[in-house]
Amino acid sequence: MESTKTCSKCGATWINGQHYWATGNKGNEDDLAGLVCNKLGDDACINPKKGSNIGDTWASRLGYMEGAMDARKKMLEDLREQEGE
Ligand SMILES: [Zn+2]
Repeated sequence: MESTKTCSKCGATWINGQHYWATGNKGNEDDLAGLVCNKLGDDACINPKKGSNIGDTWASRLGYMEGAMDARKKMLEDLREQEGE
């Protein structure tokens, strides 16, 4: 028998114990914890991995974006220096 559980806190859905994102894609409880449950979750959150920090987090995503921005800024600065010569 199929069992569906939905977390009242983060809205994540588990079907037969497998977490699915709202998009319908198979989920990852560690990512869910890092992205949603660790911030929003409280005792009402049913994510079994709540508190996990091995998954994806906004901090790691932002860090990645900042790194990419820095690299781009550096590249533009290098170009400007070359133009100045
Ligand atoms: Zn939750």
